[in-house]
Amino acid sequence: MNNRKISAFDPQDPAGIDELLTPEEKAVRASVRQLCDERIEPHIAEWFEHGSLPDVRNLTKELGALGVLGMHLEGYGCAGMSATEYGLACLELEATDSGIRSLVSVQGSLAMFAIWQWGTEQHKEEWLPRMAAGEAIGCFGLTEPDVGSDPGSMRTRARRDGGDWILDGRKMWITNGSIADVAVVWAQTDDGVRGFVVPTNTAGFSAPEIKHKLSLRASVTSELVLDSVRLPAEAAFPDVRGLKGPLSCLNEARYGIVWGAMGAARSSLQAALSYANDRVQFGRPVAGFQLTQQKLVDMALEYSKGVLLALHLGRRKDAGTLRPEQVSMGKLNNVREALEICRTARTVLGANGISLEYPVIRHMNNLESVLTYEGTVEMHTLVVGQALTGLAAFR
Ligand code: FAD
Repeated sequence: MNNRKISAFDPQDPAGIDELLTPEEKAVRASVRQLCDERIEPHIAEWFEHGSLPDVRNLTKELGALGVLGMHLEGYGCAGMSATEYGLACLELEATDSGIRSLVSVQGSLAMFAIWQWGTEQHKEEWLPRMAAGEAIGCFGLTEPDVGSDPGSMRTRARRDGGDWILDGRKMWITNGSIADVAVVWAQTDDGVRGFVVPTNTAGFSAPEIKHKLSLRASVTSELVLDSVRLPAEAAFPDVRGLKGPLSCLNEARYGIVWGAMGAARSSLQAALSYANDRVQFGRPVAGFQLTQQKLVDMALEYSKGVLLALHLGRRKDAGTLRPEQVSMGKLNNVREALEICRTARTVLGANGISLEYPVIRHMNNLESVLTYEGTVEMHTLVVGQALTGLAAFR
């Protein structure tokens, strides 16, 4: 007979997943949660409402001081933490807001990872320590006005002029674009798609902010305009050609989203639980009605399954066995289910569900972007479909 004490049921962690985490992992999570609670949570609804990220430079430095920028990279001032710890940080950041998680993901998993993986020693030494500290902000330019899911058709071009490169083109929907000090830009060359490290103060580079978004409002999204941007020969990543370069970075960022989306889901589930217990109709809390319980239970099930999947993928990543198709499974499932959880939570809150007084509709609107960026739900379905059947259905 096993006499081990069974812990009490925790509505915050219905499946008891916390017991699968190490003390170090829980400590990382707690420190990120604390920063979010103290520094971001009190202001986030206002930032979202005004569509701004005031004081973003100082906020980025605070995130850097905590070690979450490029946190799973080794060397060059990066924290060198595990993929699971990075995932837990993403979950906490996105429980606050997908826009804040996007700032961190684009900085660490897209811009810094690209330089860390594909850059020269000079690129790494010049940019990574400052980016890890949050003193320099990065962005990642792949999408274009006419090219999204099919990046192989990109039109931005880099041509040789003597020893230099000249870049011309447009990038669209670029997170952190207008606040970035450095842009990783992907462009067609005579030798296939190549990546370039572009200091944003280079002549011919500009990054007007995209306005009128109703999603990810607490995040800077921009167009990148490259108008005969002249760069030295060494601005190009030396050893990578084709889509392997950008896709390797996207795989990193998608992994963070697998966890992050569950943060938005957790926040919405907790808001729905608390509201349903407080709100009285027909003489009893709405949580006491079977129809409401069905919603809460389905949300708790999908949340628990999503976190378990994220943790499983995190353990595989830490073991070096994670496949890109498995990241696609996680991104597809967890964002889709997180969005469903938020939508259901929205109904539990009734009319209050549409108010920014509660986090639910903010998360719900944010997740519409998360469903689309880093590979749409359709693209990840096709990736997994191809892996299952051996047949590509992209064209
Ligand atoms: P399209 O590719 O035009 O697709 C339109 C629709 O058609 C989608 O539903 C798509 O799934 C579907 N579709 C396309 N092809 C197929 C097919 N073969 N079969 C079935 N369906 C198909 N990009 C960056 O490079 N850097 C960033 O930092 C960045 N940040 C972003 C931030 C925000 C807030 C948003 C909204 C986007 C961001 N993006 C960024 C762009 C994002 O990655 C793209 O929007 C995404 O890849 C989809 O491209 P698209 O919008 O052009 O849609």
